[in-house]
Amino acid sequence: MKVIPPKAKHFFRPPPRRFVDAGPVDLDPAVSWIGGDRLFSSKFNACYIDREKSVFIEQTSFLKACFLRRNWMETNYFAIGEIGFGTGLNFSIISNLWKRMAPAHVRLHYVAVERYPLNVDLISKFLRKFSNLETEFQELVNVYPPIHVGFNRVWLHSGKIVLTLIFGPIVEGLSEVEGQMDAWIMNDFSREKSPDMWSSEVFTLIGRLSKLGSRLKSVHSDSYILSELNRVGFEIAELNSNGSNRKILIGDLRKTVVEKQIPPWFRPPVVIGEKGTTGIIGAGIAGCAIARALISRGRNVILIDQRDKVAQEASGIPGALISPSIGSQANELSNFYDRAYRMVLASMNELGNNWRSRGVFKVLENHTVDRRIYSLSQRMNLWAGAALGLTRKEASDLIGIEISSSGIWFGDAGVVEPADYIAKKIDGVEFLANKMVGEILIDGDGWSINDISGNQILWVDNVVVAASQNSICFGVTKHLPLTGVMGQLSILPETPSSSRLSAAVLGGSYLIPASSGTHIIGSTHIRGSFDNSIWPLPVTSEDHAKNFKGLVPEIQCLFSDADKSGWSGYAGVRATTSDRLPIVGPVAEPESFRTDFSRLRHGPKGQFPKLPVYQPGLYIIAGLGSRGFLTADVSAEILACQMLGEPWPVERNIALSLSPSRFLFRQLRADK
Ligand SMILES: Cc1cc2nc3c(=O)[nH]c(=O)nc-3n(C[C@H](O)[C@H](O)[C@H](O)COP(=O)(O)OP(=O)(O)OC[C@H]3O[C@@H](n4cnc5c(N)ncnc54)[C@H](O)[C@@H]3O)c2cc1C
Repeated sequence: MKVIPPKAKHFFRPPPRRFVDAGPVDLDPAVSWIGGDRLFSSKFNACYIDREKSVFIEQTSFLKACFLRRNWMETNYFAIGEIGFGTGLNFSIISNLWKRMAPAHVRLHYVAVERYPLNVDLISKFLRKFSNLETEFQELVNVYPPIHVGFNRVWLHSGKIVLTLIFGPIVEGLSEVEGQMDAWIMNDFSREKSPDMWSSEVFTLIGRLSKLGSRLKSVHSDSYILSELNRVGFEIAELNSNGSNRKILIGDLRKTVVEKQIPPWFRPPVVIGEKGTTGIIGAGIAGCAIARALISRGRNVILIDQRDKVAQEASGIPGALISPSIGSQANELSNFYDRAYRMVLASMNELGNNWRSRGVFKVLENHTVDRRIYSLSQRMNLWAGAALGLTRKEASDLIGIEISSSGIWFGDAGVVEPADYIAKKIDGVEFLANKMVGEILIDGDGWSINDISGNQILWVDNVVVAASQNSICFGVTKHLPLTGVMGQLSILPETPSSSRLSAAVLGGSYLIPASSGTHIIGSTHIRGSFDNSIWPLPVTSEDHAKNFKGLVPEIQCLFSDADKSGWSGYAGVRATTSDRLPIVGPVAEPESFRTDFSRLRHGPKGQFPKLPVYQPGLYIIAGLGSRGFLTADVSAEILACQMLGEPWPVERNIALSLSPSRFLFRQLRADK
């Protein structure tokens, strides 16, 4: 039988919230080259370590010792935390060793926090001189993210090495990590040079983020460091030179003395078993993204859909715009969109770029452009250069047609071809077509997925519901608040003038550049009730007219308004939530939640059960709204990490803002 968590009560005190992106953060490492190849930082008043040989020796003996203690049959990943990523030398050496020493089925999670990140050009110039690390240096440089506060996740070595780079203040960054490290590499700069990286709070956070038995390595050791390590549960195992010429401190976490920080009402359940099959209901972008996230981690998945092929409903649109949010506030939604944007770009890169067109121009008044660009830089919602203010002349030159408005240019954004993109995602995934799921019922240690007549389609160990608006048609998920919003795209033939358009232009509606002789205009939003048994949804001339009307006047002039005879379209339903964030995570039992956490009416502090009672092995990824192609990858990565207990790809608070339990939590808080 699945384990139901005990109801013992624990005292919970909310940790102070820290907003890394609440204002501009100085990330400049202030570096210069000395003697051509030594990199000096005036922030630390020191050169970055470049003694590759001695670092290699140290890391080899450290990793060997860590590996000796591992039972590789019990785990699919190994997590290393690093305080101070610096030049990436430690990471490149560890990657090199990992490929040679680790079992093939185990992934390396490398989570590094860096206060003053170096940009890709500096990293590239620095690492190029180490000929032994050429492959690792190339892999790192290919995926290294632009400098921007917060979490960035990228994949190397065919996804076997997962690098989570956190840029910004050390304590703020580490406070937002959710995951348990097997090993730690401490900063090369001494306590005098970089006091932030050795603060008492940093040690507390290391204690919180370590597995029992976790091993830590430091090239610095003094009485303060020894006593801090001791305070958070580490015992000093060795203090020797390990064959290199530096004195190395090795510590092992012997006891857990630092409390974990997830509030009990959002704490995820025990992770799913190594073996067993996960059934995913719904083969749109959400279902396909989680299928890929799980299968790339060696898990068995079966994708089930009522249609004969994948991506036949909302995800079947002929072109999807992927562009960032330019909200002027740093809030949960804009932070989530920002992390989603970073991840979808990394994921597109990994899958070999399925862009239909690149670059998106958002038309705005001159004074609004300046204000938006200013607030983006103040709030750090996007990295430098991701959003550029353009005059009408610059805009006209970039997009290929004359336009009389200024605006913002998103050079990394673009339009994706959903069919190709999704097909690549599910390469190798088992797909059960033409199966309409009527109910999902707990059955022994797993779930029975039944059709509408009650006959079993499949028995699985775990279920992920990814059926968009229909996700709430099942008894176990019906309490979740999803609302359907219908919408239509218009597809129209290109004209000699419109064929010059080279990037998407966004006004009230948007126009996508022509491909195979047709453009796309999108899209309408119609709230209200609709009959979800009708498929395909009708395409109407009223919605064509609305789409056309929303285009900026110069764009309208590229076509003849009167003639819509050659137009076709695509209509679908988006599933949305009241806070516009998707619903991603494990599904709790609503009645138990209301009873167990009723005390929340008096405030989020006090005695609570350790975690909610969950519907064992039941997860959801739905409510992707109007931006599913932007948000599916990050949502799926968050969900996969929660299911398997791997380090989360984004800040804890961002991941928890998607929790299915947030609606139950808010109801209780509102019932004061
Ligand atoms: C007109 C329009 C334009 C859009 N433009 C953009 C855009 O430019 N950029 C962007 O990012 N997003 C856009 N979106 C939003 C985007 O399409 C959605 O966010 C995304 O497709 C949602 O993916 P999904 O997998 O959650 O849902 P879906 O793609 O709808 O997939 C759900 C799947 O579940 C299956 N299913 C449902 N019930 C059952 C059942 N009982 N049994 C078995 N299978 C079931 C369905 O057949 C379907 O395949 C647009 C949406 C519309 C409608």
